[in-house]
Amino acid sequence: MTQINPGLLGIKDSYLFAKIREKIHLLPQAQRKQLINLGIGDVTGPLAPAILSAFQAAVQELGCKKTFRGYGPPQGYDFLREAIAHEDYQKNGIAISPDEIFISDGSKCDCAHLYDVLGENLSIGIPDPVYPAYEQAAWIGGRGKAKIHYLPCTENNNFIPLPPEFPLDIVHLCSPNNPTGVAFSRKDFLQWVEYALEHKSILIVDGAYQAFLQTTDLLTFPRSIYEIPGAKNVSIELRSFSKTAGFTGIRCAYTTIPKEVLLWDHNRSSLPFWQIWEKRQNGMFNGVSYPVQKAAQACYTPQGKKELQQVVKSTMKSTQKFYSDLQALGFSVYGGTHAPYIWTKIPQGYTSWEFFDLLLEKCNIICTPGSGFGKNGEGFVRFSAFGEASSLDESISCLRSFDFSKPS
Ligand code: PLP
Repeated sequence: MTQINPGLLGIKDSYLFAKIREKIHLLPQAQRKQLINLGIGDVTGPLAPAILSAFQAAVQELGCKKTFRGYGPPQGYDFLREAIAHEDYQKNGIAISPDEIFISDGSKCDCAHLYDVLGENLSIGIPDPVYPAYEQAAWIGGRGKAKIHYLPCTENNNFIPLPPEFPLDIVHLCSPNNPTGVAFSRKDFLQWVEYALEHKSILIVDGAYQAFLQTTDLLTFPRSIYEIPGAKNVSIELRSFSKTAGFTGIRCAYTTIPKEVLLWDHNRSSLPFWQIWEKRQNGMFNGVSYPVQKAAQACYTPQGKKELQQVVKSTMKSTQKFYSDLQALGFSVYGGTHAPYIWTKIPQGYTSWEFFDLLLEKCNIICTPGSGFGKNGEGFVRFSAFGEASSLDESISCLRSFDFSKPS
């Protein structure tokens, strides 16, 4: 008799975005065509020209006998690992070497796969609200034996999770955060690093939206947790090209595992996490395709950087306008400065799914119900500003003309 992974049975609801898709599917087709999607945090623009041409050139190479390539290294090609180590770390004074960088097909997959190298009976800290994939990863990867502790992120703590009084083995952190759009300050990271050093915890820090961090305030908001002394001993960083460079469909990300991060065996001897992860990848992964990695490398060329910065600038400009417009309509809004997400408090009397339904049916707007990101997301919805500036304006016009007071 083949048994199911008990972790899967622990997952309560259908995945948030699947449930949203189901609701949209039930609408009449004519209405579906008019929807303004401020829901799923997908990118909408085409690939930047420098990235597209690197991608195309690499595909051409595969069509030529002399330059054809088959399997690549499971950890990623050196050209990309070196570009990342230099551009994302060393240039900012952070000593990360290319062999501490592991290229993958996505941070969502990585945050789940990391559990392959972890033992059973873990205690895991997950912010609430946060990107739902961490909870799914902990349930499935923990095989039903993990103890999940939710770390509340509310208006009272400015949506930054606080270290608990008790030890945790693994803590998922996300900065800038999805869904609240709030970024960790140096002080916020410092308290988590001190906590992890004290309890021998491992922090898994997801920086999928790191490119949107406003660099005018780098002293307050670090680009990487490794800017905090001691962080290299206790932190793994997940970074993705999905939101930075429009790779949500192409798939490329990387995970940084400093050699100082340790795991422990049953004899209490330590082994570098890095080494164990390399072993896992060698056995279970055959790498990301060559053209995709060449396209990712192009993000670090002077032209690639310039083009991507323009996209970030214009996305954040429309986010800021949308934020002010929502505020002018009387909504209490958060985030929106370091990520294109606006965490919006909903009018009294609605649950976040009820407010989602109302916006969908009456205003043709798709948002994301806050409760889909955790218990503390109830009372909020997330608006994503990844779409066209004109759709954001259009949605503001609809919201302006609608009376949200709930009929008694
Ligand atoms: N991490 C966060 C916080 C996200 O919001 C998302 C996607 O929405 C991802 C990771 C997914 O990254 P990837 O496309 O690299 O799997």
